[in-house]
Amino acid sequence: MTTYTIGFIGLGNMGAPMAQNLAEAGHTVKGFDTAGTTAQGVSVAATAQAACEGADFVITMLPNGAILRAVAAQILPAMASGATLIDCSTVDVESARDVGAQAAAAGIGFVDAPVSGGVGGAAGGTLTFMAGGTDTSFAAASPLFDVMGQKAVHCGEAGAGQAAKICNNMILGATMIATCEAFALADKLGLERQKMFDVVSTSSGYSWSMNAYCPAPGVGPQSPSDNDYAPGFAAELMLKDLGLSQQAAEAVDADTPMGALARALYAQFVEDEGGLGKDFSAMLPRFAARGRDA
Ligand code: NAD
Repeated sequence: MTTYTIGFIGLGNMGAPMAQNLAEAGHTVKGFDTAGTTAQGVSVAATAQAACEGADFVITMLPNGAILRAVAAQILPAMASGATLIDCSTVDVESARDVGAQAAAAGIGFVDAPVSGGVGGAAGGTLTFMAGGTDTSFAAASPLFDVMGQKAVHCGEAGAGQAAKICNNMILGATMIATCEAFALADKLGLERQKMFDVVSTSSGYSWSMNAYCPAPGVGPQSPSDNDYAPGFAAELMLKDLGLSQQAAEAVDADTPMGALARALYAQFVEDEGGLGKDFSAMLPRFAARGRDA
């Protein structure tokens, strides 16, 4: 196996285990995080630039597009021509495209590669990457995707990975809400939750939210609902992704009423109804406790 020198910027909940897996696979990983966090097997650099000098690849795993833009402005001048920047953060499509264009102008490859799979997937090396970039950049990055994940889909040019991620999560947010409100209606109609699951999970209402991540405790496979809705995938992260899909929809004049309503409901849940820090499937107890006029 070819081993690489990798700069890793953003060693948070996701980035730290991803960087550790790369180090364990035999790559030389230099990390930097403004919070001073580190990861096993990763040497700590004093600055973002220092982590990137001489690196074959730089991976970023950061909170949002504004921070990605700021970090890119710092590190692109420090990166060697021919190196590849892989951004695994979830950011707006425009930031991904702009950073991709800046990288190309500097002779640096770029792949936007947001992930699904969460902290468990990052630790276990089982993430799915949704990637955007040139064929050359995607091919170059693939050996690293193989270490950090189990699947990488090349979705198109720079920004296409972010587009795929936010469209997927817009479906997920709306579907989870639909599943939760249907359970709450079923409760009030006197239908047992287990019976509801038995029917819907094998009928046309089935979905990942119902079948793989059932929001009703004790029903279906093990899920955060069985652990008092500890995340899992936190409601505020779903809110972030639904905000990104609305931002993108506005930019391209796409009509997305279900996505807009899902965003509004998650905003209300997170900001006013105690949803912060709970799994996004905790929409079920929220609906179950309400009537039509709240
Ligand atoms: P996190 O907040 O734990 O980690 C982000 C890290 O970036 C922090 O340690 C922070 O100190 C660091 N950072 C911020 N500004 C920086 C800068 N200028 N230079 C260097 N480091 C800086 O977040 P996370 O949960 O690891 O998520 C990272 C990204 O992955 C986000 O875009 C998130 O939306 C996405 N994501 C998260 C999950 C999840 O389940 N946590 C799942 C899929 C995607």
